[in-house]
Amino acid sequence: MKKAIGKVLANDLCTGCGICSYFSDEIKIVVSPAGYNRPDITNAPEDPVLEKKFSKVCPGLNLDINSVRKDNYDGIWGQIESINVGYSTNNALRQSGSSGGVISALSNYLVQNNIVDFVINISQGLNLDNVSSLKGKVYDFRESAGSRYSPASPCDLIRKLDLSKKYAFVGKPCDVAAVYQLKQQEPLVANAITHLLSFMCAGTPSFKGTEEIYSKLGVNKENVKSIRYRGNGWPGYTTIVSDQDEEFSMSYNNAWGGILNRHLQTRCKLCVDGIGEFADIVCADAWDCDDNGYPLFEENDGRSLVISRNKIGNDLINNAKLSSNIVLDDFDINTLDKIQPFQFYRRVSIFSRLLAFRFLGLTPPKYKGFDLFKSALKGGLYLNTKSFLGLVARRRKIIKQKSL
Ligand SMILES: Cc1cc2nc3c(=O)[nH]c(=O)nc-3n(C[C@H](O)[C@H](O)[C@H](O)COP(=O)(O)OP(=O)(O)OC[C@H]3O[C@@H](n4cnc5c(N)ncnc54)[C@H](O)[C@@H]3O)c2cc1C
Ligand code: SF4
Ligand code: SF4
Repeated sequence: MKKAIGKVLANDLCTGCGICSYFSDEIKIVVSPAGYNRPDITNAPEDPVLEKKFSKVCPGLNLDINSVRKDNYDGIWGQIESINVGYSTNNALRQSGSSGGVISALSNYLVQNNIVDFVINISQGLNLDNVSSLKGKVYDFRESAGSRYSPASPCDLIRKLDLSKKYAFVGKPCDVAAVYQLKQQEPLVANAITHLLSFMCAGTPSFKGTEEIYSKLGVNKENVKSIRYRGNGWPGYTTIVSDQDEEFSMSYNNAWGGILNRHLQTRCKLCVDGIGEFADIVCADAWDCDDNGYPLFEENDGRSLVISRNKIGNDLINNAKLSSNIVLDDFDINTLDKIQPFQFYRRVSIFSRLLAFRFLGLTPPKYKGFDLFKSALKGGLYLNTKSFLGLVARRRKIIKQKSL
């Protein structure tokens, strides 16, 4: 295990998902000096059998979409069974949610109707970090609603699960991919975790990004009682509450665009699946667009894009709709490239960024079955050359800074 995880860390390809802790009590997820969640492998066991399984599961090493894809697979947006826009019918949940509160509404629906015993998701911990825990019938899902733009490792709980119970899992696409790949290795886990819910993801910023927000708002970390990165509106404000119950806030544009997206981990720059291809359901922001098709970030009632990727996902949203937990409206799939321009760009340029990583003598993760070359052709030569050169320049700068 030490050798295989060490390889992921050496190539700076760890997503921080936490699934390596499934393989041994000796592997703990800790915050690295750079402010990301990373496995501490000091006491990790040397076990070739575990190492082989780990290598098939870790999203820092490989992602294989072949068992998900069918004939109508789309090289940019993955396998799509249905696509809608929607929101929670519970106004408080919709308001607390990151966009339309659909993930929280589905989580609540699953536990209230005994479809699962618990939902595994993350929420704010005592140290203002993100902690994974089991949420059951009495849980108020407003508490965990909203995006948390700092490191979170929802898979670190899986080793502790009672596998005779049923669970739904909520996480970023890389977290969900890790659970999906673990399910393929471990039949008991596959039987216990029945639903995978995700959301589109542009990247995980380090805790240093959050600290920069505190300092921009003029608040000492020691005096912060809670932080919500989004929610309470759409897109809502990044809001800090101090121990004196004073509120400080910043717009989504300033927080994400001005600070947080400058602190993303390396693996996110090479992410092939920011769109939740391994999930049963994936949600995203269903931004309104201006006349030129650019997304508007004006405050509005929250609406989530809701994609079901298979029958499990389709049954879930249809039943939640029938029992009036969510509203679903039609969505024109041809407008998807416009309302999610970053995910589109990322998918048509990932091929050249992987080449650039190799050009620098580094080993990127192995991505199988994603049709990346076909997607690169859609992006064109100019865009791919630019993204190749951009990654080379950024990595060289990082290597130079590290050597100083
Ligand atoms: C790091 C990050 C990047 C994102 N990038 C994009 C993007 O590029 N495009 C886009 O459309 N949407 C992005 N989102 C997702 C978007 O903000 C909404 O989460 C999505 O629209 C679902 O909204 P909702 O109201 O249905 O979810 P909610 O009902 O608000 O539920 C959110 C769920 O996500 C879980 N969660 C929150 N933060 C994390 C985290 N860091 N790790 C694991 N689980 C978490 C919560 O536990 C909760 O269960 C991102 C979210 C995050 C956390
Ligand atoms: S990507 Fe996930 S499984 Fe792989 S080393 Fe990092 S935390 Fe562990
Ligand atoms: S961008 Fe990709 S690798 Fe990074 S956190 Fe999101 S899903 Fe994981």
